Amino acid sequence: MSKQIAAANWKMNLTLQEAEILIDDLLALPHSLTDNQYVLLAVPFPYLPMAIQKLSGKKNILIAAQNLSDKPSGAYTGEVSAAMLKSMQIPAVLVGHSERREYYNETNVTLAAKVNIALANGLMPVFCCGEALPIREAAMHNEYVTTQLEESILHLTVAEIVQVVIAYEPIWAIGTGVTASADQAQAMHLHIRTVLANQYGQATANQISILYGGSVKAANAVELFSKPDVDGGLVGGASLHAVEFNGIINSLQ
Ligand code: PEP
Repeated sequence: MSKQIAAANWKMNLTLQEAEILIDDLLALPHSLTDNQYVLLAVPFPYLPMAIQKLSGKKNILIAAQNLSDKPSGAYTGEVSAAMLKSMQIPAVLVGHSERREYYNETNVTLAAKVNIALANGLMPVFCCGEALPIREAAMHNEYVTTQLEESILHLTVAEIVQVVIAYEPIWAIGTGVTASADQAQAMHLHIRTVLANQYGQATANQISILYGGSVKAANAVELFSKPDVDGGLVGGASLHAVEFNGIINSLQ
């Protein structure tokens, strides 16, 4: 069975003090996570120690980094390695967010290297994929996402792929207020699970969590998460508000 996950992507937002208040506020709100439900907070690198300290011992609430280097170590000023994250006991990392692809030229090939190095260091990669609007309008979205999967994660072994979480994030829905309909999300998630099943078998595909991202809010989360292949969400803007994000957490089903 796949894990259900409400993941927050804070991006490059909040001061340290604001981030501390957000975590405190979130922890003060009522939510009860079953053994199979997780909250993941992808916070900026400098806030990782604070977040780990505040969330230590909190059931099923995990911290993630938002990026990592594809190189193991060395003269790469400003980069953060998988080994560094591992040494801080960070359990997870976002890989290939569309903003990384668009603004920092991360290609499917680079992202395959990032996924590999994350797994080699015991980090759970949250692999992001999704198409831009012209691709959706040309009805090429299934093929486009298939290529992203083929070039970045389908080389993994069964033992490796079950440690990966996939986030389908149509670029046209990120930060735009336009959400994919629950049916559009389900159709793509089913497509992704079918691609995984063709490569690894249905039982393995069923273990892999596929999150939807793109203008998820408390008001639309229940409908999105009710779809059989939608295992939760990766949330940007709405994750910066404790009450709103807690509503999303409580929409996990
Ligand atoms: C994201 O950046 O991953 C995202 C889904 O953003 P938003 O929820 O703001 O659309």
